[in-house]
Amino acid sequence: MLPLVDLKTQYRTIQPEIDAAIAAVLADAQFIKGPHLARFERNFAAFAGCEHVVGASSGTTAIHLALAALGIGRGDEVILPSMTFFASVEPVIQCGAAPVFADIDARTCLIDPESVARCIGPRTRAILPVHLYGQMADMDALIALARAADPPIALIEDCAQAHGARQGERRAGASGDAGCFSFFPGKNLGAFGDAGAVVTGDAALAARLASLADHGRSAKYLHDTPGFNYRMDALQAAILDVKLAHLERWNAQRVALAELYDALLAEIAGIETPAVAGGNRHVFHLYVIQLDERDELLGSLRANGIEAGVHYPVPIHEQPALRGVACRTDSLERTERAARRVLSLPIFPEMTPEQVFGVASAIRGWRGSQPVFRRVAAATAPV
Ligand SMILES: *Cc1c(COP(=O)(O)O)cnc(C)c1O
Repeated sequence: MLPLVDLKTQYRTIQPEIDAAIAAVLADAQFIKGPHLARFERNFAAFAGCEHVVGASSGTTAIHLALAALGIGRGDEVILPSMTFFASVEPVIQCGAAPVFADIDARTCLIDPESVARCIGPRTRAILPVHLYGQMADMDALIALARAADPPIALIEDCAQAHGARQGERRAGASGDAGCFSFFPGKNLGAFGDAGAVVTGDAALAARLASLADHGRSAKYLHDTPGFNYRMDALQAAILDVKLAHLERWNAQRVALAELYDALLAEIAGIETPAVAGGNRHVFHLYVIQLDERDELLGSLRANGIEAGVHYPVPIHEQPALRGVACRTDSLERTERAARRVLSLPIFPEMTPEQVFGVASAIRGWRGSQPVFRRVAAATAPV
């Protein structure tokens, strides 16, 4: 079976470094806070192009921390896409705010700034764009909308799928008020368990984030506010610090594999390869094609030993969990259509070109047996 991601192979390629980093944490037994976390926060700040990084226990808690540190709560609204992993919305609901769902661009599946503009109302306190699949939402347009609002609206970037993504000079996480990263094992930078981080250029916000993540502390037994236990532990930080040094190379390998997929899948009838928005450096956390017969192709690939996935089959606004939640939405027609059409093909840095060829020929083989291909072939056959 060709998996969607292959973490065992990745571990084998860096095992001595990882094992040494784990051994170092075990030897000095500083499991909470301490030098390993401080070093990773410093190195990740340099990578993200942001002055401050606050480690968190997951991407979900990173988003919760950002919302809490920005004072977002009951009576407030947060605008976000419905085409995302459920964790983008959970903290919004948990902090008592109301989600407002904006539609997406049909080709990139990124939040559509025109739809965001229609969603802005008197209670809007934040926009939470998701840099979905590995490329950044249109930050220029979103920053303009946020700044034009009175009072201004906060921008919290969900960067869980976009470590190392860029848009012109902007780096994921560095152009909003706060950027929230997940280091879930399967992400482009993955821990050996749960971990996350918030990045920000605002020193006062960073101090609030750090305090909230650590029981609202200002000193060991002095608590300014009821916070959370949302810290990143030292073992994860030490592992992430090793893996961070490989991230640019891994991302470049993802991009090369995506280019190969693009070339091999071009001109297969009815299949749309991923669109990269202007100015974006896409880091291909996921390689997502779109087609009408998604479920048939998914079934055929699985039957051929290829694990494909769907991100995401049920948009957030259609989740059972949202039934009792008061929320507004723009028209979500493009979100609902994409949820029926998206298909994620295997992509991971250690994947070989031969494996990409294998997936592409399985798709060609499947399409060859589809009537639409015969129609196209007949229409283009020389007379
Ligand atoms: C993975 C992910 C999260 C949540 O991260 P966890 O570390 O699993 O809590 C949030 N948003 C998006 C878009 C994600 O892909």
